[in-house]
Amino acid sequence: MYCENCGEKLKEGAEVCLKCGHQAKKETKTNTKFNEQNIPSEYKPISMWGYFGYEILFMIPIIGFILLLVFALGGTSNKNLKNFARSYFCLFIIIAVIFVIIALMGAATASSLYY
Ligand SMILES: [Zn+2]
Repeated sequence: MYCENCGEKLKEGAEVCLKCGHQAKKETKTNTKFNEQNIPSEYKPISMWGYFGYEILFMIPIIGFILLLVFALGGTSNKNLKNFARSYFCLFIIIAVIFVIIALMGAATASSLYY
């Protein structure tokens, strides 16, 4: 490994050149800096308003639930959206279970009042 700036031979794993102080590039580490343009559509981040829009969409009765199921089951190639739909689906189920429990408890207390 040689310094890109002055050509001095560098020690293996050295981060800076001892002769000129030039920052040495790590060979093992590829350039991980990437911008939003070259992210494949699968990993494209969803903007804050994007999430907001999907939340509103998922709140629509029936249609929203169908969309939620489609996205959660892989109807979209975007992993962020898929995971978001899945987390929303879990939340949906928890809320549904809580509602069922409350309804059952309400029904139980209501029926016990008649006897
Ligand atoms: Zn150098």
